Amino acid sequence: MRIASRLGRAVIVAGDLYVDIETASGGQFSHQVDDLYRDWDRFRDWADRSAPAADQPFKLGELDAPVQQPRQVFAIGLNYVDHASESGVKPPPSPAVFTKFPACLVGPTAAIELPSTKCDWEVELVAVIGRTADRVSEGDAWSYVAGVTVGQDISERAVQLVGPVPQFSLGKSYRTFGPLGPSVVTPDELERRDDLELQCGVGGRILQKRRTSDLIFSVSRLIAEISAVCPMLPGDLLWTGTPPGVGMARKPQEFLQPGTTLVSEIEGIGKLMNPVVAGDGYPQSAG
Ligand code: ZN
Repeated sequence: MRIASRLGRAVIVAGDLYVDIETASGGQFSHQVDDLYRDWDRFRDWADRSAPAADQPFKLGELDAPVQQPRQVFAIGLNYVDHASESGVKPPPSPAVFTKFPACLVGPTAAIELPSTKCDWEVELVAVIGRTADRVSEGDAWSYVAGVTVGQDISERAVQLVGPVPQFSLGKSYRTFGPLGPSVVTPDELERRDDLELQCGVGGRILQKRRTSDLIFSVSRLIAEISAVCPMLPGDLLWTGTPPGVGMARKPQEFLQPGTTLVSEIEGIGKLMNPVVAGDGYPQSAG
């Protein structure tokens, strides 16, 4: 099953068709997509037994973020060996965790507004928590996942790396820096949930392309390690880290340019298509 939010209303999608969840359930479930994750087992039960087939057409541009106001956002740095080495560091011995503040989340076709000429791309698999995960084992961890989706961990590198130690969270939380979607795909839809190809590119040029089987810490390992410290709550997001190919590590370095469209895709999940525009603070001469 694929869950999305279309024009502010929670929907089940199949191909390019949708069905409205609040209407189809006779008001048992709300139109606010975040409410579904907080009542996930009951929702799944209803959806599996009683949801009618999707029959209304929609366009990608009508979709909002499929998770909008998570209580917690966990994001992982340096979780692919080759991305750690291109960043000039050794792979971490335990997950390197930071947050993206939730106000940065936007939908699958929202414009990314650049505040500077140092903004970078990071395509990532994002897991959505569907049941409170408190000290769960690696073996059980997937059963706490409502689904997975595509995320872009847009990063302003000057702010991220300023100061004596890096402060990842703020530079990754500018307005519009968290494109997410197009839908949340339940794990049963994916034949190989731990081995999905992910990629992003601009203008037909591929910038990143890897498989999630190359993650240093898998989705289940991350949930086990994080939930040993901090309960993960229904609707929380887990951004699992980006593969090599970021702009900062290229020689010469490259950053996002206004007037382009960043396309990010994960096999079996779908595609983000985010136009890149000059935002407040972007130098006029560089535009
Ligand atoms: Zn990242």
